[in-house]
Amino acid sequence: MRPARALIDLDALRHNYRLARELSGARALAVVKADAYGHGAVRCAQALAGEADGFAVACIEEALVLREAGIVAPILLLEGFFEADELTLIDQHDLWCVIHAQWQIEAIEQAQLSKPLTVWLKLDSGMHRVGLHPADYQNAYRRLLASGKVSKIVLMSHFARADEPECERTSEQLAVFQQARDGLSAEVSLRNSPAVLGWPQLFEKTGASDWVRPGIMLYGATPFEQAQQQAARLQPVMTLESKVISVRELPAGEPVGYGARFIAERPTRVGVVAMGYADGYPRHAPTGTPVMVDGQPARLIGRVSMDMLTVDLTDLPQAGLGSRVELWGKQVLASDVAMAAGSIPYQIFCNLRRVPLLYL
Ligand code: PLP
Repeated sequence: MRPARALIDLDALRHNYRLARELSGARALAVVKADAYGHGAVRCAQALAGEADGFAVACIEEALVLREAGIVAPILLLEGFFEADELTLIDQHDLWCVIHAQWQIEAIEQAQLSKPLTVWLKLDSGMHRVGLHPADYQNAYRRLLASGKVSKIVLMSHFARADEPECERTSEQLAVFQQARDGLSAEVSLRNSPAVLGWPQLFEKTGASDWVRPGIMLYGATPFEQAQQQAARLQPVMTLESKVISVRELPAGEPVGYGARFIAERPTRVGVVAMGYADGYPRHAPTGTPVMVDGQPARLIGRVSMDMLTVDLTDLPQAGLGSRVELWGKQVLASDVAMAAGSIPYQIFCNLRRVPLLYL
C-alpha cells in the first residue's frame, strides 16, 4: 500500500476542546464544518460526543451526516439555510440555525414547523460578510420573537481580525455588538479560536461570552502568524506522513523535478517521498519548507509534483529508502508549512484528500 497517510490523534482533539472551554470559561460549539477541517467530521464529533456542548457546521448536508452517524448534541448551521424549504429538515432534525438576513426571518415567519426553533441571530459588527446591520438588529430580534416560531435566540457576531494581536478592530467590533444588543437579555456568542486564545482580557471585562465557537484550535493549529502563549498549549491532531520511496545521488549542478526549480549546489542525496499536491500537500511549498525524516529536521527541495515530492537527505546519512517522513504534525507544525507555502493551516487541512485517515 502507498505509505501516505494522516494519523488523527483524538486525545489531542479532546485536549484542545477542553482548553477552549478552560480559556473561555464558556460553553463551546466544536466547529466541525468542512469535514472537521479535513480531520473527518463524524469521527471527530464522535470523539467529542458526551462532552461537547454542541457542534457547528456550514450547511444542512454536513449536519445530516452527523445526525445519521448518531450525533444527538445540538448542531448549529453557521450560515443558516440557503433556501426556505430547508426549514422542514431543520425542524425534523432539531438543528440550530444562524439567521443573518431579512429574507430568512420572513421565511421563518411563513414556515410550518412542528416546534419552535433555536436561532442564532447574527450581527454584522464590522466584518461585512454576512449578518444584519446594527440598525436592523433589535427589530429583527423582536420580529423573530413575535413570530411564535422561535423559542430561543442567541446573539452572535464574528470577528474579522482577531488573529492580529495588536489590531483594534476586535474591540471596535465588540463595541458595535454591545451597542446593537443593548437591552436584549439573551445568550451571546462571539469568539472563534483567535479570540479565545488571544483576547481573554476583552471578554473578562465585558463578560460578553456564553458560547465560543472554536475551529482551528481544536485541530491543534495556531491561527496566529507569530508565536503565541496560549496557542503553544495546543496539541496538533493530524500527522501527515509518508515514506522515502527512492533515493538518488546527484552531482552539483544537476536539477531536481519539474521546471528544474532546484539545482544542486553540492553533491546531493535526494529522497523521493510518496506525497504530492493530489494528496493536498501545497504545490507552492518552496525549497526549504521544513519536513522531518526519521525524526530529524530536513527540507523540501524542488517543485512538489502530483504524487511525489523531494527532500534533501545529504546531511542525513542514516536516512534512506523506507525512512519515515513527517510532512506536518507534532514535529513540523502545519502552520509553518502553510506559512512557507503562502497559505494558512485552515486551507492545507481542508485540501487534504486521497490519503487515508487513521484514528488513534
Ligand atoms: N464561527 C464562525 C461563524 C465561523 O465562520 C468560523 C470559521 O470560519 C468559526 C466560528 C471558527 O473559526 P476558527 O476556525 O478560526 O476558530
